[in-house]
Amino acid sequence: MEFSWKEITLTLRYPFILSDSVITEKKVVFAECSAEGLIGIGEAAPSSYYGETPQTVIAVFEKARPILGNIRFPFSVESLNDELLRSFPDAASARSAMVMAVLDWMGKKQNLPLYKLLQIDAAKTPVTSFTIGIDQPEVLAKKISEAENFPILKIKLGKGDYDYEILKTVRRHTGKTLRVDVNEGWNKEEAAKKIDWLSQQNVELVEQPLPKENLDDMIWLHQRSALPVFADENVLTIKDIQSVTECFDGVNIKLDKCGGLLEAVKMIRTARRNSLKVMIGCMIQTSVGTTAMAHLSPLVDYADLDGHLLINNDPYKGFAVDHGRIQLPSLQGIGIH
Ligand code: MG
Repeated sequence: MEFSWKEITLTLRYPFILSDSVITEKKVVFAECSAEGLIGIGEAAPSSYYGETPQTVIAVFEKARPILGNIRFPFSVESLNDELLRSFPDAASARSAMVMAVLDWMGKKQNLPLYKLLQIDAAKTPVTSFTIGIDQPEVLAKKISEAENFPILKIKLGKGDYDYEILKTVRRHTGKTLRVDVNEGWNKEEAAKKIDWLSQQNVELVEQPLPKENLDDMIWLHQRSALPVFADENVLTIKDIQSVTECFDGVNIKLDKCGGLLEAVKMIRTARRNSLKVMIGCMIQTSVGTTAMAHLSPLVDYADLDGHLLINNDPYKGFAVDHGRIQLPSLQGIGIH
């Protein structure tokens, strides 16, 4: 199998304002594997917060070239995934792109869409939310009108007293179900008070209210929270699940955190065994990664796969959305074009 890669810079439709940073562009790296006239594609959307950058991803790709170069059909993607995990344990985003590319190739080779290759029922897809980043009231209003096709919005909070203003602005424009993502932006007393208030505002759940270091505070908050609380920054891989069962009601699983599609499937099962609800999410990235993850969406409770909708130069087209519900492509592999 031939293996190559390409870095591209995505530009955001709106500057993405989080509790602690502003992002206007994002670099991703595409992994491409080709053999027998077929090309498989995968995407790494690395985040320096989790210790990976386009440079570290490319460094891992260079080292992994002999591993991918040695595979010939028929082969086991599971074995390849295990070998990559052993060789590059700290490179979740890079591994995710390679496994994604190989699965895309395998789907094309076997003439199956990814969900069939993974034996998943495409009829059971959930609704995906659309993210509204922190912004000025007039920009919030514009974003809400652009999200017309999405019945559920994910609202970013974590800006002190301005949080109330954000929520009130959103509520002036829509009665839709909301999910709130705080990206570690609150302390525990603030979180308790704000969650009480949010529970009166048709909010469904709150993601990562406290800094990831504060697991003791999170146990306290979980016991008194009027809304389900979900872990994002606190849970990267399967190994992290056990440590949060007392702190959260659910986990947000992402390919670039957990190491790819096969690790994500295992993680979904592990979370369920531990009575945790499961959300799947994404980074700011293209349709390659969000569509790959969408193939797992029938296995989960909540989906937040809007990364490709937040950019204005997505080179691909992937899954469609009908009134927010994910429609998986029936093309072979990931099904992007
Ligand atoms: Mg989050």
